[in-house]
Amino acid sequence: MNSTIQVTVWNEFRHEKKNEKVKALYPDGMHKVIADFLGKNADLQVRTATLDEPEHGLSQEVVDNTDVLIWWGHMAHGEVSDEIVARVQKRVLEGMGLIVLHSGHFSKIFKKMLGTNCSLKWREFAEKERLWNIEPGHPITEGIGEYIELPNTEMYGERFDIPTPDKLIFISWFEGGEVFRSGCVWERGHGRIFYFRPGHETYPIFYNEQIQKVITNAVRWAKPRIIMPDKCPMSQPLEPLENKSNTFGAAGILQNG
Ligand code: ZN
Repeated sequence: MNSTIQVTVWNEFRHEKKNEKVKALYPDGMHKVIADFLGKNADLQVRTATLDEPEHGLSQEVVDNTDVLIWWGHMAHGEVSDEIVARVQKRVLEGMGLIVLHSGHFSKIFKKMLGTNCSLKWREFAEKERLWNIEPGHPITEGIGEYIELPNTEMYGERFDIPTPDKLIFISWFEGGEVFRSGCVWERGHGRIFYFRPGHETYPIFYNEQIQKVITNAVRWAKPRIIMPDKCPMSQPLEPLENKSNTFGAAGILQNG
Protein backbone atom coordinates (compact mmCIF):
# COMPACT_ATOMS: atom_id res chain seq x y z
CA MET A 1 0.00 0.00 0.00
CA ASN A 2 1.21 3.51 -0.92
CA SER A 3 2.75 5.27 2.08
CA THR A 4 1.01 8.57 1.24
CA ILE A 5 -2.39 8.74 2.92
CA GLN A 6 -5.17 9.98 0.62
CA VAL A 7 -7.53 12.13 2.70
CA THR A 8 -10.90 13.51 1.59
CA VAL A 9 -12.38 16.25 3.77
CA TRP A 10 -16.15 16.33 3.28
CA ASN A 11 -18.15 19.33 4.43
CA GLU A 12 -21.81 20.19 4.07
CA PHE A 13 -20.66 23.83 3.44
CA ARG A 14 -24.00 25.57 4.08
CA HIS A 15 -23.56 27.52 7.35
CA GLU A 16 -20.50 29.26 5.86
CA LYS A 17 -22.68 30.60 3.02
CA LYS A 18 -25.75 31.55 5.08
CA ASN A 19 -24.47 32.80 8.44
CA GLU A 20 -22.28 35.95 8.52
CA LYS A 21 -20.57 34.91 11.76
CA VAL A 22 -19.59 31.54 10.33
CA LYS A 23 -18.57 33.12 7.02
CA ALA A 24 -16.25 35.49 8.88
CA LEU A 25 -14.54 32.57 10.66
CA TYR A 26 -14.42 30.21 7.69
CA PRO A 27 -14.71 32.30 4.50
CA ASP A 28 -13.82 29.36 2.25
CA GLY A 29 -15.51 26.75 4.42
CA MET A 30 -14.40 24.59 7.31
CA HIS A 31 -13.20 21.96 4.83
CA LYS A 32 -10.62 24.42 3.48
CA VAL A 33 -9.19 25.12 6.95
CA ILE A 34 -9.07 21.40 7.79
CA ALA A 35 -7.51 20.53 4.41
CA ASP A 36 -4.91 23.31 4.86
CA PHE A 37 -3.59 22.12 8.22
CA LEU A 38 -3.61 18.48 7.15
CA GLY A 39 -1.89 19.41 3.89
CA LYS A 40 1.16 20.71 5.75
CA ASN A 41 2.10 17.08 6.45
CA ALA A 42 4.23 15.46 3.74
CA ASP A 43 2.61 12.05 4.28
CA LEU A 44 -0.93 13.32 3.64
CA GLN A 45 -2.47 14.09 0.24
CA VAL A 46 -5.66 16.04 0.85
CA ARG A 47 -8.69 16.88 -1.29
CA THR A 48 -12.09 18.30 -0.35
CA ALA A 49 -15.67 17.44 -1.27
CA THR A 50 -18.92 19.25 -0.48
CA LEU A 51 -22.65 18.51 -0.48
CA ASP A 52 -23.61 20.62 -3.48
CA GLU A 53 -21.05 19.12 -5.86
CA PRO A 54 -22.26 16.36 -8.22
CA GLU A 55 -22.54 13.15 -6.16
CA HIS A 56 -21.63 15.37 -3.16
CA GLY A 57 -18.05 15.25 -4.46
CA LEU A 58 -17.94 11.56 -3.57
CA SER A 59 -17.92 9.81 -6.95
CA GLN A 60 -16.99 6.13 -6.98
CA GLU A 61 -13.55 7.16 -8.22
CA VAL A 62 -13.02 9.58 -5.31
CA VAL A 63 -14.23 7.07 -2.72
CA ASP A 64 -12.07 4.30 -4.25
CA ASN A 65 -9.04 6.58 -3.94
CA THR A 66 -9.70 7.77 -0.38
CA ASP A 67 -7.88 6.19 2.56
CA VAL A 68 -9.50 8.36 5.21
CA LEU A 69 -12.73 10.34 4.89
CA ILE A 70 -13.44 13.23 7.28
CA TRP A 71 -17.11 14.24 7.68
CA TRP A 72 -18.67 17.49 8.92
CA GLY A 73 -22.42 18.05 8.46
CA HIS A 74 -25.25 19.67 10.42
CA MET A 75 -28.24 21.38 8.81
CA ALA A 76 -28.61 19.22 5.70
CA HIS A 77 -28.01 15.62 6.79
CA GLY A 78 -31.28 14.71 5.03
CA GLU A 79 -30.00 16.01 1.68
CA VAL A 80 -27.19 13.46 1.54
CA SER A 81 -28.31 10.79 -0.91
CA ASP A 82 -28.77 7.27 0.39
CA GLU A 83 -26.85 5.98 -2.62
CA ILE A 84 -23.73 7.92 -1.63
CA VAL A 85 -24.12 6.88 2.01
CA ALA A 86 -24.26 3.22 0.91
CA ARG A 87 -21.15 3.78 -1.21
CA VAL A 88 -19.23 5.25 1.73
CA GLN A 89 -20.44 2.55 4.13
CA LYS A 90 -19.31 -0.21 1.76
CA ARG A 91 -15.88 1.39 1.51
CA VAL A 92 -15.53 1.73 5.29
CA LEU A 93 -16.40 -1.96 5.70
CA GLU A 94 -13.70 -2.72 3.11
CA GLY A 95 -11.12 -0.79 5.14
CA MET A 96 -11.39 2.99 4.56
CA GLY A 97 -11.02 5.13 7.69
CA LEU A 98 -13.86 7.47 8.73
CA ILE A 99 -13.51 10.49 11.03
CA VAL A 100 -16.80 12.10 12.03
CA LEU A 101 -16.65 15.60 13.53
CA HIS A 102 -19.03 17.36 15.92
CA SER A 103 -22.60 17.61 14.52
CA GLY A 104 -21.75 14.76 12.16
CA HIS A 105 -23.05 12.64 15.06
CA PHE A 106 -26.46 12.91 13.35
CA SER A 107 -25.22 12.24 9.81
CA LYS A 108 -26.69 9.35 7.86
CA ILE A 109 -23.29 7.73 7.48
CA PHE A 110 -22.48 7.82 11.23
CA LYS A 111 -25.87 6.41 12.20
CA LYS A 112 -25.59 3.75 9.49
CA MET A 113 -22.15 2.66 10.67
CA LEU A 114 -23.14 2.51 14.35
CA GLY A 115 -26.79 1.42 14.10
CA THR A 116 -28.06 3.59 16.98
CA ASN A 117 -29.83 6.98 17.23
CA CYS A 118 -26.62 8.92 18.06
CA SER A 119 -28.72 11.51 19.92
CA LEU A 120 -27.36 13.72 22.74
CA LYS A 121 -28.09 16.81 24.83
CA TRP A 122 -26.92 20.20 23.56
CA ARG A 123 -26.84 23.87 24.56
CA GLU A 124 -25.27 26.88 22.88
CA PHE A 125 -23.96 29.13 25.63
CA ALA A 126 -20.25 29.68 24.80
CA GLU A 127 -19.24 27.45 27.72
CA LYS A 128 -15.73 26.37 28.58
CA GLU A 129 -14.96 22.75 27.67
CA ARG A 130 -12.16 20.61 29.02
CA LEU A 131 -11.46 17.43 27.05
CA TRP A 132 -9.66 14.95 29.30
CA ASN A 133 -7.19 12.71 27.52
CA ILE A 134 -7.87 9.36 29.14
CA GLU A 135 -5.75 7.29 26.70
CA PRO A 136 -2.37 9.05 26.70
CA GLY A 137 -0.72 6.03 25.05
CA HIS A 138 -3.10 5.94 22.08
CA PRO A 139 -1.82 7.11 18.64
CA ILE A 140 -4.68 9.66 18.47
CA THR A 141 -3.48 11.48 21.61
CA GLU A 142 0.22 11.56 20.70
CA GLY A 143 1.63 14.97 21.66
CA ILE A 144 -1.55 15.95 23.51
CA GLY A 145 -1.18 16.68 27.20
CA GLU A 146 -3.47 15.73 30.02
CA TYR A 147 -6.34 17.78 28.61
CA ILE A 148 -7.39 20.24 25.92
CA GLU A 149 -9.19 23.37 27.01
CA LEU A 150 -11.55 25.28 24.72
CA PRO A 151 -12.70 28.65 26.12
CA ASN A 152 -16.01 28.77 24.24
CA THR A 153 -17.92 25.81 22.88
CA GLU A 154 -21.38 24.47 22.29
CA MET A 155 -22.20 21.92 25.01
CA TYR A 156 -22.88 18.27 24.12
CA GLY A 157 -24.02 16.15 27.06
CA GLU A 158 -24.73 12.52 27.91
CA ARG A 159 -26.48 10.38 27.26
CA PHE A 160 -24.91 10.04 23.82
CA ASP A 161 -26.82 7.18 22.19
CA ILE A 162 -23.91 5.26 20.67
CA PRO A 163 -22.77 1.66 20.98
CA THR A 164 -20.10 1.40 23.70
CA PRO A 165 -16.88 2.51 21.95
CA ASP A 166 -14.08 -0.01 21.42
CA LYS A 167 -12.01 2.61 23.18
CA LEU A 168 -12.90 5.91 24.80
CA ILE A 169 -10.17 8.47 24.11
CA PHE A 170 -11.54 11.78 25.46
CA ILE A 171 -14.15 12.68 28.06
CA SER A 172 -15.38 16.30 28.08
CA TRP A 173 -16.42 18.38 31.05
CA PHE A 174 -18.50 21.50 30.48
CA GLU A 175 -18.87 24.61 32.56
CA GLY A 176 -22.60 23.97 32.96
CA GLY A 177 -21.97 20.59 34.57
CA GLU A 178 -22.44 17.97 31.86
CA VAL A 179 -19.94 15.38 30.66
CA PHE A 180 -19.62 13.77 27.24
CA ARG A 181 -17.74 10.97 25.47
CA SER A 182 -15.92 13.32 23.09
CA GLY A 183 -13.44 10.97 21.45
CA CYS A 184 -14.53 7.45 20.60
CA VAL A 185 -13.21 4.73 18.31
CA TRP A 186 -14.88 1.72 16.75
CA GLU A 187 -14.05 -0.84 14.09
CA ARG A 188 -16.65 -1.78 11.52
CA GLY A 189 -15.62 -4.47 9.04
CA HIS A 190 -12.01 -3.62 8.20
CA GLY A 191 -12.56 0.12 8.71
CA ARG A 192 -11.60 2.28 11.66
CA ILE A 193 -13.97 5.01 12.85
CA PHE A 194 -13.17 7.98 15.10
CA TYR A 195 -15.78 10.39 16.42
CA PHE A 196 -14.41 13.71 17.70
CA ARG A 197 -16.80 16.16 19.32
CA PRO A 198 -15.30 19.67 18.94
CA GLY A 199 -16.12 21.70 15.83
CA HIS A 200 -19.14 23.93 16.31
CA GLU A 201 -19.28 26.30 13.35
CA THR A 202 -19.54 29.61 15.26
CA TYR A 203 -16.27 29.10 17.19
CA PRO A 204 -12.73 28.99 15.73
CA ILE A 205 -12.26 25.37 16.87
CA PHE A 206 -10.52 24.13 13.73
CA TYR A 207 -7.82 26.80 14.12
CA ASN A 208 -6.87 25.37 17.55
CA GLU A 209 -3.49 23.65 17.25
CA GLN A 210 -4.32 20.84 19.66
CA ILE A 211 -7.57 20.09 17.83
CA GLN A 212 -5.58 20.08 14.59
CA LYS A 213 -3.08 17.69 16.15
CA VAL A 214 -5.79 15.25 17.25
CA ILE A 215 -7.38 15.22 13.78
CA THR A 216 -3.97 14.75 12.12
CA ASN A 217 -3.12 11.89 14.48
CA ALA A 218 -6.54 10.35 13.85
CA VAL A 219 -5.98 10.36 10.08
CA ARG A 220 -2.77 8.36 10.50
CA TRP A 221 -4.46 5.98 12.95
CA ALA A 222 -7.51 5.44 10.69
CA LYS A 223 -5.63 4.73 7.47
CA PRO A 224 -6.44 1.31 5.98
CA ARG A 225 -4.28 -1.66 6.97
CA ILE A 226 -6.07 -3.69 4.31
CA ILE A 227 -8.73 -3.06 1.68
CA MET A 228 -10.81 -6.19 1.29
CA PRO A 229 -14.04 -6.30 -0.73
CA ASP A 230 -16.81 -8.29 0.91
CA LYS A 231 -17.60 -11.81 -0.28
CA CYS A 232 -19.50 -14.82 1.03
CA PRO A 233 -18.24 -17.87 -0.93
CA MET A 234 -19.01 -21.60 -0.72
CA SER A 235 -15.74 -23.04 0.53
CA GLN A 236 -14.06 -26.27 -0.64
CA PRO A 237 -12.63 -28.36 2.24
CA LEU A 238 -8.86 -28.21 2.77
CA GLU A 239 -8.78 -31.87 3.87
CA PRO A 240 -10.59 -34.66 1.96
CA LEU A 241 -14.00 -35.38 3.48
CA GLU A 242 -15.75 -38.75 3.31
CA ASN A 243 -19.18 -38.79 1.74
CA LYS A 244 -21.91 -38.04 4.27
CA SER A 245 -25.60 -38.64 3.76
CA ASN A 246 -27.29 -35.68 2.12
CA THR A 247 -30.73 -36.92 3.04
CA PHE A 248 -32.56 -34.17 4.88
CA GLY A 249 -32.53 -34.74 8.58
CA ALA A 250 -30.42 -37.91 8.36
CA ALA A 251 -26.99 -36.41 8.86
CA GLY A 252 -25.54 -37.37 12.22
CA ILE A 253 -28.27 -39.86 13.06
CA LEU A 254 -27.39 -43.57 13.33
CA GLN A 255 -29.22 -45.56 10.64
CA ASN A 256 -30.75 -49.02 11.41
CA GLY A 257 -29.28 -51.86 9.29
ZN1 ZN B 1 -22.74 22.57 16.77
